[in-house]
Amino acid sequence: MFPDDLDYYEASTVEEALELLEEHAMAETELLAGGHSLLPAMKSGLSSPDVLIDIGEIDPMHGVSVEGETLSIGAMTRYSDLLDADAAHEHAPALTEAVSHVGDTQVRNRGTVGGNLAHADPASDLPGAALASDATLVAAGPNGERKIPVDEFFFGMYATALDPDELLVRIEVPSAADSVGAYAKKASPSSGYAVVGVSALLDTDGGTVRSARIGANGVLDHGVRLEGVEDELDGVTLDDERIEAAAARASEGLDTDLLMDDLQASAEFREHLLEVYTKRALEKTSERVGTLAAAD
Ligand SMILES: Cc1cc2nc3c(=O)[nH]c(=O)nc-3n(C[C@H](O)[C@H](O)[C@H](O)COP(=O)(O)OP(=O)(O)OC[C@H]3O[C@@H](n4cnc5c(N)ncnc54)[C@H](O)[C@@H]3O)c2cc1C
Repeated sequence: MFPDDLDYYEASTVEEALELLEEHAMAETELLAGGHSLLPAMKSGLSSPDVLIDIGEIDPMHGVSVEGETLSIGAMTRYSDLLDADAAHEHAPALTEAVSHVGDTQVRNRGTVGGNLAHADPASDLPGAALASDATLVAAGPNGERKIPVDEFFFGMYATALDPDELLVRIEVPSAADSVGAYAKKASPSSGYAVVGVSALLDTDGGTVRSARIGANGVLDHGVRLEGVEDELDGVTLDDERIEAAAARASEGLDTDLLMDDLQASAEFREHLLEVYTKRALEKTSERVGTLAAAD
């Protein structure tokens, strides 16, 4: 199926994109980033914008830089460019590992980190990792920039704190250079998207956990923190028993009435997968903590 006729604009600056959003505020408008969610939706008739604003040529929205203790990721940074950046692996290990699980090479060469987070598909890989990484999402709008803590960003299926007249310009991640991160994913056998994915970021001293942030996608209609797991890990020395106990609390505090329940997995099976993949993510971090401790 071909998309309906539409007006196409290419913005070369953030200001230009914002002006176009304002000018077409009354129309059905979409921003075109990597196009790897939007174009399939348009071709299948799920999305029919009248106006498409291409933000791919806005230079300051591309690339990765380190400013003090913060890793700054332009929203238009393609997954493959993030994976090529040593700074991303060093400062955002959980997010970088989740990015390596997105789709295939073709998808990673076109899709963008900002597009993934702004689209907020519950089955995508990055919401949980952004939550585990304590990211801040920086939106540009008519009144300048505003910073949205990731804990306030995801609302529901395809729903975020971004206003229609805003665009996400960059993602700021506090450096986790001294932490260990991991991502464990049950991929859909048909699409490769996450049935359940769990990201863990642990700040440790030797084998002892100083603090833990755990995020998950695929479970509810939006990314969530696993606070029961985080509590269980606080101050403990990681071993098999502790990991088992933490994973057992994976669905604690989640509204189980809101668990995703679809053709990929029933709500009950998803809850089971959440525990299993939490355990796998923690086992990976534990191995890496061991490797770090051995290197000290
Ligand atoms: C075959 C295939 C397999 C895939 N597998 C996976 C997978 O395993 N895991 C996974 O996570 N994803 C997967 N994806 C989705 C892919 O990661 C998309 O790239 C991503 O979801 C959207 O990013 P994008 O840059 O392509 O955004 P687009 O498709 O261009 O845009 C998506 C939406 O976000 C909005 N948007 C984009 N950028 C911004 C911005 N800067 N500010 C505000 N709004 C913005 C757009 O207006 C649009 O509504 C897959 C896609 C395909 C086609």
